[in-house]
Amino acid sequence: MITLDKCPLCSKENLVKKLDCIDHSTSNEIFTIVSCETCEFTFTNPIPKEENLGEYYKSDMYISHTNNTKGLFNWMYQTVRKYAVGTKINLLKKISQKENHLDIGCGTGEFLNACQNAGYKVKGIEPSEIARDQAIKNFKLSVSDNTNLNQFKTEEFDSISMWHVLEHIPNLNETIKEFDRILSQKGKVIIAVPNHKSWDANYYKEFWAAWDVPIHLWHFSRNTIEQLFSKYNFKLKKTKPMLFDSFYVSLLSEEFKTGKKKFVRGFIIGLISNIIGILTKKGCSSTIYVFEKQNKAI
Ligand SMILES: [Zn+2]
Repeated sequence: MITLDKCPLCSKENLVKKLDCIDHSTSNEIFTIVSCETCEFTFTNPIPKEENLGEYYKSDMYISHTNNTKGLFNWMYQTVRKYAVGTKINLLKKISQKENHLDIGCGTGEFLNACQNAGYKVKGIEPSEIARDQAIKNFKLSVSDNTNLNQFKTEEFDSISMWHVLEHIPNLNETIKEFDRILSQKGKVIIAVPNHKSWDANYYKEFWAAWDVPIHLWHFSRNTIEQLFSKYNFKLKKTKPMLFDSFYVSLLSEEFKTGKKKFVRGFIIGLISNIIGILTKKGCSSTIYVFEKQNKAI
């Protein structure tokens, strides 16, 4: 296990325990989540060593990497995912008409394939061999197993996307620093991450499915992700709630809390969270953030 004694965001040592969470998906081990009293950044601490993290991904519930349509829950997930690809493409078109796009953690490649069909020149990164093989086989995409961004040239891309990926990446600061290098001027980063300040997170507390310890290393809010990107020359340009995620996360959280699939209740909680998220500054269960690379001061 690795214990951080400094905040990865502001480097201060004022870390306080926030809550203990069980890894419901794989190990049933308990992990602690801490918050920095200075900047509010929240993260799992301690975390397994990088070489052991893979063990915690071996779960049937981790369905984003497979295309199993068995069961109502998975069917719903897959159906929503198809719809979600369309809304993601529309967002990309709106913010970047330039051609070179990188998707980090591209999974089985549905989004990247849609980008390619929309006229973008695309590259992907996907460490999971099963997912990567499907992306290459099904869509003939260029997908690398190498997660190190130093493989890319300076200003190689005009836009980068990470759909629920940043919270999994151990070297957080180095990654955002590399975004600044590999993006062209005014390049855009599209990041989707869970929002632990959402109403459903507060309602489910330690049962909130999007804590997803230990594979979610970092737990963002609008405030902390904005601080993080501003360290590396990026400005927040746009946010967009992911309304379907509230339902998915609430259904899963209900199951963690009660041991049963409670569709109606999960749906109602997701709906309340979305309404409150839109009407207040809390934000929804998951949010998409668009950051823009700023010109450096001369
Ligand atoms: Zn801090």
